[in-house]
Amino acid sequence: MVKIAVLKETVAGETRVAASPETVKKYIALGASVSVESGAGLLASVSDAEYEAIGASVGASPAVLKDADIILGVQGPNPKVLKGFAPGAWLVAGLDPFGQRARVDEYAKAGVEALAMEFMPRITRAQSMDILSSQSNLAGYKAVIEAASAYGRAFPMMMTAAGTVSAAKAFIMGVGVAGLQAIATARRLGAQVSATDVRSATKEQIESLGAKAIFVENVAGIEGEGAGGYATEMSDEYKAAQSELVSSHIAKQDIVITTALIPGRPAPRLISDAQIASMKPGSVIFDLAVAQGGNVEGSKPDEVVVKHGVKIIGYANTPAHLAADTSALFSRNLYNFLSAFWDKEAGKPVLPDDDEITAAIRLTKDGKVVNERLLA
Ligand code: NAD
Repeated sequence: MVKIAVLKETVAGETRVAASPETVKKYIALGASVSVESGAGLLASVSDAEYEAIGASVGASPAVLKDADIILGVQGPNPKVLKGFAPGAWLVAGLDPFGQRARVDEYAKAGVEALAMEFMPRITRAQSMDILSSQSNLAGYKAVIEAASAYGRAFPMMMTAAGTVSAAKAFIMGVGVAGLQAIATARRLGAQVSATDVRSATKEQIESLGAKAIFVENVAGIEGEGAGGYATEMSDEYKAAQSELVSSHIAKQDIVITTALIPGRPAPRLISDAQIASMKPGSVIFDLAVAQGGNVEGSKPDEVVVKHGVKIIGYANTPAHLAADTSALFSRNLYNFLSAFWDKEAGKPVLPDDDEITAAIRLTKDGKVVNERLLA
């Protein structure tokens, strides 16, 4: 019987768990045994007793890892704790392959087959396995809620007997999964919303959510969706035009949410100190990219920085601030992946070497680093 181990996260501030009770039940129904490290779910509102009640065993890490065939994590575990697992066991987690390149070598040496879930290709078949999308979606929501909470005014227009409160103006920079959810959330709260991106396909998406699209017109951005929906580094000419556009728009905004990322590179700088200085005191900027270097000059992870009277906020790990929901979705992403490759006869998941998903997510195998993006 295949054994699945669920580890307790060890990185500071990580509150999520990689297997919800719902997915543990489903793994057991597939014929697996599941062993959960004691306390793994606590910060995501799941007790040890809840896991035990559905048939998982709960214990300390050495017992949980002993003879495990599949090890699940939200983030990559310290390679030093990976002991006693079955030969060639899979490590399935968000492994931050570029940021933690040296650790990938250690996984290879330890003899696990490391599978990086954030490398899941953006193909229809893999949509339900995509941890970047599921976590960004809730992060985009949370960014707006945190910005609203830090803002000393209301979002919606209110007509009261004592006078009118005007609607907040919110500007969303970067309209991927997080940005779209940020637009929708800010709209629901009653703000007047505008948004921008470098990919031309987002213009229609912005407008269909009832927000105003603010786009660089004189220099070409990225046609359509961009490769895999991802942006690349823009030309200096584009950056200058974008900066000019942002300068004229941002001074009138009360709330700015930045979400711009470029895979494998530091986050692009979108807002300078001079632009912050042009904003009204009391305005709030939430930098969702702060952990990847930040879109906003001066933003610091997990700190409220006040510059020119403007509050700049950003979390090192935004999904960890709504751990119950993000864990549930993350867990389903892992389950959808493992169950899609489940081989009934073998009683375990099998990854064909010639599958597009295998090639994309497999980092190590048989003691070697095998992923093209890491070897390039
Ligand atoms: P992301 O997190 O990599 O980046 C966030 C956004 O920032 C992107 O829209 C990007 O274009 C934008 N950006 C980058 N540099 C910028 C700059 N200098 N100025 C302004 N904006 C900038 O992106 P994401 O949220 O992961 O997804 C992007 C796209 O991929 C979306 O259109 C999404 O629908 C698509 N997607 C498809 C699948 C699938 O088909 N399976 C899965 C997930 C996402």
